[in-house]
Amino acid sequence: TYSLGPKINDWDGQREKWMSENSLSLNLKGRPRVLLVTGSQPSSCDNAEGDNFLLKSIKNKLDYARLHNMEIFYNMAHLDQEMTGFWAKLPLIRRLMLTNPETEWIWWMDSDALFTDMSFEVPLEHYENFNLVLHGFDDKVYQQKLWTGLNTGSFLIRNCQWSLDLLDAWAPMGPRGIVRNQAGEMLSKSLTGRTNFEADDQSALVYLLITQRQEWAKKVMLENSYYLHGYWVDLVGKYEENMAKSHPGFGDDRWPFITHFVGCKPCLKNGGDYPVDTCFKQMERAFTFADNQILDVLGFRHRKLGSPRVVRVRDDSSHPLKLLRKSLDRVPAIA
Ligand code: UDP
Ligand code: MN
Repeated sequence: TYSLGPKINDWDGQREKWMSENSLSLNLKGRPRVLLVTGSQPSSCDNAEGDNFLLKSIKNKLDYARLHNMEIFYNMAHLDQEMTGFWAKLPLIRRLMLTNPETEWIWWMDSDALFTDMSFEVPLEHYENFNLVLHGFDDKVYQQKLWTGLNTGSFLIRNCQWSLDLLDAWAPMGPRGIVRNQAGEMLSKSLTGRTNFEADDQSALVYLLITQRQEWAKKVMLENSYYLHGYWVDLVGKYEENMAKSHPGFGDDRWPFITHFVGCKPCLKNGGDYPVDTCFKQMERAFTFADNQILDVLGFRHRKLGSPRVVRVRDDSSHPLKLLRKSLDRVPAIA
């Protein structure tokens, strides 16, 4: 049967030994180290616009990571020929845990998800007793058995033995071909609202939590007090209202933290659930909505959401640092 690699049983001990012999476990601001991980397919996109979107997507993540003292790992390799597509994150996360013992949390983020609140900071102190944090709802997963009861496009997973064990339990439906296809049929029968398609990592996790709830659920936090993942359809139409009535820093409906383009497939010519034009138009709006928060510090903003053109919002001054102070004050976490 499929395995992600040699069975490891004492990772917590190995890791602790490494930490005591080597580097610090905390980052510069005294917070646990978080490694932001994302990636995309090794080849260029079928859609002519797709690669430009991927560039914007990594720029967006670079900006957020720089402001919040995180490192980024961008992967373009298929580390495991069996685990392609949405399954590629599993072997990758495992390898990154084992090669970055000083990292406490790995934060996976899909390429089609953008940070839209540059100030919001994830409340890691709330997750002390948890090893996996995803956007989701207990009721939708455990009672309704919805395959969309949680989202695996953006989640935090702790670097520990529990997580290695979880990855081992999560992976078996992943190998492409007959295994993944048959598992897909089983998942569609078992879960609510799932059409029949090959097994995906999200459904497999929901299934694991439902069928082995005793084993795993205790350490899994389904977060919904802010948008660790936010469905773009619900959010993109409200950006103007957010700008008029609110400011960054909340991460919730007042100013969504992450906007995820579920069903858009920006890199493919077709096969998405939404018209390509709608997707690109809205992705452009989300990107500029976020980028305005970066440009503001430079004294610029996009002429309007979705526009690549920028306009000045302030005149230059002979005392630039006074202005800088003011603009940083508008973005609390950055200051
Ligand atoms: N991905 C990757 N390598 C691949 C294909 C996908 O790293 O070869 C990543 C990419 O970041 C993507 C995520 O896996 O956003 C999920 O893949 P999927 O095809 O499900 O895309 P999505 O559901 O985000 O449209
Ligand atoms: Mn996605």
